[in-house]
Amino acid sequence: MCAVLWLRCSSCGTKLVGDAPRRIQLRRTPGWRLPPDTVVCTRPRALGNPFSAQHFGHAQAVAMHEIWLREPNAAALGYAPPLADKLDALRAEVLRRLPALRGRDLACWCRLPAPGARDLCHAATLLQLANAPLRYDLPAPLRHDMELNDA
Ligand SMILES: [Zn+2]
Repeated sequence: MCAVLWLRCSSCGTKLVGDAPRRIQLRRTPGWRLPPDTVVCTRPRALGNPFSAQHFGHAQAVAMHEIWLREPNAAALGYAPPLADKLDALRAEVLRRLPALRGRDLACWCRLPAPGARDLCHAATLLQLANAPLRYDLPAPLRHDMELNDA
């Protein structure tokens, strides 16, 4: 089980104490409300998956989204211009927004996974990337102390 503690920074609003950020399933149920501090990640927003589940199939569209975010050059993935240029520009925009997603819940229409199952949603990929551990360049003695305390 993950033991990440979330706190909220008073200056930038990033969640500092509370539950780990999670993926929310959007609903059209009457009375349902988007939980506070949740970012909607659906098309046509920049954070929506540009790869359509109707066109590629759900699992394939989610996989293509993750591969696209991890590859800086869409042409290297086989996309031809002008689509490759559009995908590169959109990817840059998503990466620009990623730090603001850190600590926030992300919402999409995809069904939530069964307990223990993988969340097959592009927003789950965004959650993972936005909340990846930060890397600090610490002096060697501090790094050594941290390793001792982590054990
Ligand atoms: Zn989704």
